Parts: sequence; C-alpha cells; structure tokens
Amino acid sequence: MTPQSSQELRAATRTTTIGFVNLGCSKNQVDSEVMLGALAKDGFELTADPARAEVVIINTCGFIEEAKQESINAIIEHGKLKKNGTCKVLIAAGCLSQRYQGELLKELPELDGVVGTGDTGRIAEICRTLLGPGRKTRRVWASPPPYLYDELTPRLRLGKMHSAYVKIAEGCNRNCAFCAIPIMRGKQRSRPIESIVAEARTLAAEGVKEINLISQDTINYGVDLGVRHGLVSLLRELVTVNGLRWIRPFYLYPQQVTDELIDLYAGEEKITKYIDMPFQHINDAVLKRMHRLGNNAHITTLVDRLRTRIPGLSFRTAFIVGFPGETKAAFTELKRWLTDMEFDRVGVFLYSDEEGTSAVELGRKIDRTVMEARRDELLALQETISLKKSRQKIGSTIEVMVEGVSEETDLLLAARHEGQAPEIDGVVYLNDGTADPGSFVKAEITDAAAYDLVGRIVG
Ligand code: SF4
Repeated sequence: MTPQSSQELRAATRTTTIGFVNLGCSKNQVDSEVMLGALAKDGFELTADPARAEVVIINTCGFIEEAKQESINAIIEHGKLKKNGTCKVLIAAGCLSQRYQGELLKELPELDGVVGTGDTGRIAEICRTLLGPGRKTRRVWASPPPYLYDELTPRLRLGKMHSAYVKIAEGCNRNCAFCAIPIMRGKQRSRPIESIVAEARTLAAEGVKEINLISQDTINYGVDLGVRHGLVSLLRELVTVNGLRWIRPFYLYPQQVTDELIDLYAGEEKITKYIDMPFQHINDAVLKRMHRLGNNAHITTLVDRLRTRIPGLSFRTAFIVGFPGETKAAFTELKRWLTDMEFDRVGVFLYSDEEGTSAVELGRKIDRTVMEARRDELLALQETISLKKSRQKIGSTIEVMVEGVSEETDLLLAARHEGQAPEIDGVVYLNDGTADPGSFVKAEITDAAAYDLVGRIVG
C-alpha cells in the first residue's frame, strides 16, 4: 500500500468535521484556541456539536483527582459517539495525555490518538494521519513539552470577544510538593516580550479591551530569558498598547514582589487593581512540607504591603486543605488567618496524591472526609466574608465592563468591575440601562450577594 502524499491525504480528508471539548484551566483554553485555529486553517470544518463530528478532540486536564476524573468521563462519554454517532476518530489532548501517554491509550480503548502538550501545534497533521485511509494503529504523540505559541499562530478564540487570555510562558521551575504541573508542562519557557506585545496589539485591533496574562508562574516571567524583573518590563510595554483598558496578570507566586511592580500596579490605570496570588496554606510547618517559599509572617506582610500601596485592591487567593501532616491546629490557624485577612475571593482545593510528586511519599495522610469537611468549612467562612465585602459596595458608583446579556435571563445585562476576573469572580447584573458588550459604563450598586452585585447604569 503506497503511502499517500500529504496532498492526497489532504484531498481525501478535506471536509472532515471536528468537534472540540475544552476542559481545565485558562492555559488549556489557549491551547484549545490554538488547536482550533490550526484545524480551521488546515481546512477542517469545526462544529460546536461533537455528535455531528467525524473527529472529536477532548483537551484534557490532569491537575488533580477531580479534574482527571472529569476528563476521563468526557472521553468515555464521547467514545459512545463512535458506536451510535458519526465519530470515526476520538483524540485526547492536553495535560492528562502528556502525563499518562500510552497508559491512557491502553486504559481507554475508545481512544484513537493521545496527543501531549508538546504536540499541540501538530494537531491538524495528527488528525490527517488518524483519518488517513488504511490507518491500522492507534497512536501516542508525546514529545517533551517545548510547545509555546507566538503572535503569528492562528488562534480561534473562545469566550467573549472583548476579553482574551494571553499565555506569556509555559511550564514551571518550582517544585511544590503537591504539584504535577512541571511533569505535564515542563520547565519554564517564556515568550519574548516583543511577541506578547505584538499579540496584544493584534487583539486590541480586534476590539479586545481586557487581556488576562496567564502562565504557571507569572512572577517569574522572563527568568529563563535572562530578563530581570521580566513582569515589570512586560507590563511597561503592554500599557502602551492603544485600545486596551484592562491588563490582568494571574498566578503570582508570593515571592519577588518588588516595589517597582507594586508601584506599576498602583500607578498604571490599565493594570487592574486585582491580585491573584495562591498561598496554598499559611501554617509554617505545612508551607515547609509543601516546599513553598515564605512563611506566615512573610505572607502577611506582603498582603499588607500590597493593600497599603495599591488603593482599591481586590485580592484572590487559593488554598489546599488536607495536605499530609496538616494538623487540626494548622487548619485552625488557616481559618483564623482567613478571618483576619478578609480576601475578596478564595479557591479551596482538596489535596490529592499525584504520582510523580514528592508529597506522595509523605506520611500522615489526611482522611478524605476530614479534607472535605475542612474545605466546606473554609468555603462557608469565605462566603460570609465575601458577602460582607460585597455589601460594602452598595450605594457606590463604580466603572464596569459590559459582558452582554446575562446567562441567567435576557432581562439583565452582565458586567464585571475591575476586581472581577472572567469566569471565576462573579458578575455585576445590570437591571436598568443598555450598553454594548465590551463597553465601559458607570453603574450604581443597589444590591449584593456574596459573589455577584446588582446595579443600574448611571452614565
Ligand atoms: S508554582 Fe508550584 S503550584 Fe504553581 S505550577 Fe509551579 S510547582 Fe505547581
């Protein structure tokens, strides 16, 4: 059987429809958008309904137990389309694929291809190979994860057209004891500042008002390029991009937060007065066992410094409960600290044993029911704090960016204020006045729930 030339392969498979399922974090969403861009550019037809697709791609997450299970369920669910649908080829891409490679193929017979994070850029070619006539084998593509898109990479953006994620780096050089991300995403690789600024200019020209800067370790941006204080240099460039209104960095590690960076946050209108900084815990012994730099005193001082120097700051953080050795006293300390610090938003995750991480070897594992009880207790506590802080906004007039008609009802518009990141921090429901998506208006806040506000447009 003579191998088909790429032209013949292309001709034979041109109008194939592809369905795509995007799971996991915003970094995975950017990978999905890059894959969709490559597939569209290569002539595949994209459908929002996987049941109509001949190829279904699941972009998976492999971070923690719950996320892994969600990805496996999605693969099994869409695998059924091969029996009673049009699906001929089922592909798993993303972190779970990078992490488990051949094992995933063995465990899930419905899969035809497993594509790791290092091969995101080759998705169109991989689809053609798997669709190629006479294809016998199921295959794994798992090159080591050097893949990083740039400003010229075709990208089909998901989500709101006035807000975009911009991945500034990939991978992480740290070794937090619970974290498998370095296994799936490799060492830190930063995109050059010029590439990120060029992409931001293109996005602004497309009408994007808000760019969300994402990576695993944003505070360390540029370190692998030999750029000192890379995030400061990058932000200084990005604030010069016309048309952008909000620049929002995510995932700041609580180290290397320089006065220069704080002054930039405080002094530059375009940089949102919003800090996203996962602390993971606050008890010194737990932080040490987690291989996290810093301790209670350092982190508390850092929060105070940020709040004092950046007026009107909204603060999001995240914690892991149930880390091996987390005593009742350590958890109580965390609860007390949360009560004192009053953050605006807090995410709480259950510790899960992730093979390949150093925490797996640790003793004094915490029972799952205890973990869940601690998570629920922290979330309930945080809800009372968030409600108190939200209610303090009633009667104030604040600037918001309109997202469009709310998902709840078309009687309301949904918007966000500067302290609300997309998808994770709640919205401002506007019940009086009209405005276009992506526009900035003044809203008078008339009511508040823990995570959402209600208001009316006043100008
Ligand atoms: S900083 Fe720690 S938690 Fe974050 S990606 Fe790196 S290793 Fe994982």
